[in-house]
Amino acid sequence: MKRNATTILLFILLFSTTAVNAQQIIAHRGYWKTDGSAQNSITALMKADSISVYGSEVDVWLSSDGVPVANHDATVMLNGVKITVEETPLSTLRQVKLSNGETLPTVEEYLDAFAACSHTRLIIEFKTHSQKEREEELARKVIKMVHERGLQEKVEYIAFGIHFVLQARQLDPQAAVYYLNGDLSPGDLSVMGLAGFDYHHSVVAKKPEWVQAAHELGQMVNVWTVNTPEDIRKMIGLKVDFITTDEPLLVKEILQQQ
Ligand code: MG
Repeated sequence: MKRNATTILLFILLFSTTAVNAQQIIAHRGYWKTDGSAQNSITALMKADSISVYGSEVDVWLSSDGVPVANHDATVMLNGVKITVEETPLSTLRQVKLSNGETLPTVEEYLDAFAACSHTRLIIEFKTHSQKEREEELARKVIKMVHERGLQEKVEYIAFGIHFVLQARQLDPQAAVYYLNGDLSPGDLSVMGLAGFDYHHSVVAKKPEWVQAAHELGQMVNVWTVNTPEDIRKMIGLKVDFITTDEPLLVKEILQQQ
């Protein structure tokens, strides 16, 4: 009887330790390193959902005629010509094919697909634009689309620009908003009312004390883009909360070994 109680106690301790320390995985630009997928494609979102990661990240821009679209780079290639996303109308951007043959998606299409996801959250990155007014228009339109679909509790926002994170904070006070640029301390971010930081893993490796400082302020810590076993193990050791990666299955495997 006594032995049973000890076993149960050990099990509870083991389980609770695992639950506290477990890192969550975010698929960077979706789960794209797999057959039939491509960065920021709708397929990459659905594949991220199929492997049950915490989140799937996507980058968003505003077309010249004011339509939010999903793409990472500021430019895309169309018929051998480089075009700038924010200077190009949607009708032209729709001629762009991703490497898996998909048409470059609008954010509306992306969110409609996301509504069918049952596991993953969506982490939307607002890309830095040439004008503040355009950034405001993008944040306003995307956050409105999220709310119209009732998806606000499943969506988080990230940006390198202070202007963008403050704008997202103001437009959706309940949303988790993270800052990417690596130059502000947890104390600074707390004053801004942000959920935490989402910094390059090298920043966090140099300032490991920021992880505990953030946790003491009730913030969460995310790191990008962590792809090698060495860096993944290092970030797990620093007790970050989220690991953003191009290798979600590798991170899963390493977490399971811990
Ligand atoms: Mg991104």
